[in-house]
Amino acid sequence: MKDLLVMKFGGTSVGSAERMRTAATLSAAQKRKRPVVIVVSAMSGVTDLLIETTKHAEGGDDAGRKSNLRKLEERHVQACEELLPAAKRKPVLGGIRELVGEFDRITHGMLMLEDRPPRSVDEAIAIGERLSALIIAAYLNAQGTKAEAVNAAEVIVTDAVFGSASPLMEQTTARARKLIAPLIRAGVLPVVTGFNGATADGRPTTLGRGGSDFSASILAAALGARELWIWTDVDGIMTADPRLVPEARVLEEVTYREAAELAYNGAKVLHPRTLAPLVERRIPVWSKNSFAPEKPGTKIVSRIRSSNGARAVTSLGKVAMVSLEPAQATLNGTHVMARALGALARANVEVLSLSSSSYRQSFCFLVRSEEKERAVEAMESALALELAHGYLRPIDVDEQVGLLAVVGEGMQGTPGLAGRIFTAISRERINIIAIAQGSSELTIAIVVRREGLEAAVRAVHAECAMGK
Ligand code: ADP
Ligand code: ASP
Ligand code: MG
Repeated sequence: MKDLLVMKFGGTSVGSAERMRTAATLSAAQKRKRPVVIVVSAMSGVTDLLIETTKHAEGGDDAGRKSNLRKLEERHVQACEELLPAAKRKPVLGGIRELVGEFDRITHGMLMLEDRPPRSVDEAIAIGERLSALIIAAYLNAQGTKAEAVNAAEVIVTDAVFGSASPLMEQTTARARKLIAPLIRAGVLPVVTGFNGATADGRPTTLGRGGSDFSASILAAALGARELWIWTDVDGIMTADPRLVPEARVLEEVTYREAAELAYNGAKVLHPRTLAPLVERRIPVWSKNSFAPEKPGTKIVSRIRSSNGARAVTSLGKVAMVSLEPAQATLNGTHVMARALGALARANVEVLSLSSSSYRQSFCFLVRSEEKERAVEAMESALALELAHGYLRPIDVDEQVGLLAVVGEGMQGTPGLAGRIFTAISRERINIIAIAQGSSELTIAIVVRREGLEAAVRAVHAECAMGK
């Protein structure tokens, strides 16, 4: 669809009746010019509330579960009442009660089972997005913009990795053409839920926390959109997280590769997998602030005019360093590493960075904290014999570490940059534990002691004059 604009509104951009009004106004204004599809997140905080409720249910805390159900209903009923005239509320209030009832039924099942099966969790937590899509579509209609809420479970076909599913693009494209394209042709604005999908045989899935960005890029690719706009609560992609570095500045343009490196290394402003579906089709992305829509935002494209040195710095605090070391020199370190990595791959653990020493045959790697247990279990079972016989030292896990990444297409051509970055960090008396330049010349990843992470980010930002 040549002229199609896909826009995604994040949690804060639909976090209240007021914010939904703005999102609807921005959508209606674009729709007057060209075909538009919007993808919406749950209202801010709702996904956390839903997840907490499933935990109450699993733990047998029915009072906690019910209190959250009330909060869920109240928040959406209030938004509905603030947005819609009394005469138009009834079907929407009915829809809200139905969805809250569905959530009640699923979490009641968890309470009975004293368990939270991943596929039920996915079915349950996607209800946040279904609630916001319902309300926003109703509001658009009430304002005279023809709109229809669409549950992405009907459109985005995924594998069965619950909690972190991947799209099957061919099937998704076919569904998008069948279900969404006709709405657009009929002049209707589809309001699609972010975050969720379903397997080909209809089991509900989610794409991982923050996954609505990814939903929007999947749909933009499937529908052959001209552009994707991601509306959030900051002015665009910045040289650092503004919550950590007050001097951080908005970048006018970044490349797909830079944006992907930033996202994978902790820049929450984009879900790490967002850009993958767009790169090949060269669909440009804008990151924009729904609180200041007049500002230009950041454009993400294949190539940019010039890129000097280090452009942005990100960090990940919730990581763990896992180390493996042979107790005997006779053990072949490369074989151990191969088997350990094979086990991690089968357990679906993402290795964030890795370094090894050929002399001591040892190696260590970084994983996200939430994947740490899975990583250790997988390795312990793959290397059970070596561990039991003492050929390998017990697997060591250090959680007092953090990852910092410096990113920029032009870093390779800037001599002495790595040295300056390390010096800036050391000057703050922060210990550098590991360094990985990786094969992508545009990122230097540095593992430091956790307590020094924020200071290291600020030191690098200042040293590279990113704020200027
Ligand atoms: P949304 O709910 O719209 O998806 P998120 O909270 O997921 O928004 O992402 C936006 C947040 O990302 C910002 O409020 C900001 O604090 C954080 N952030 C982290 N790193 C960066 C960065 N480099 N540039 C901009 N924002 C960043
Ligand atoms: N609501 C989901 C979350 O909070 C998805 C998203 O907002 O992107 O993770
Ligand atoms: Mg987000």
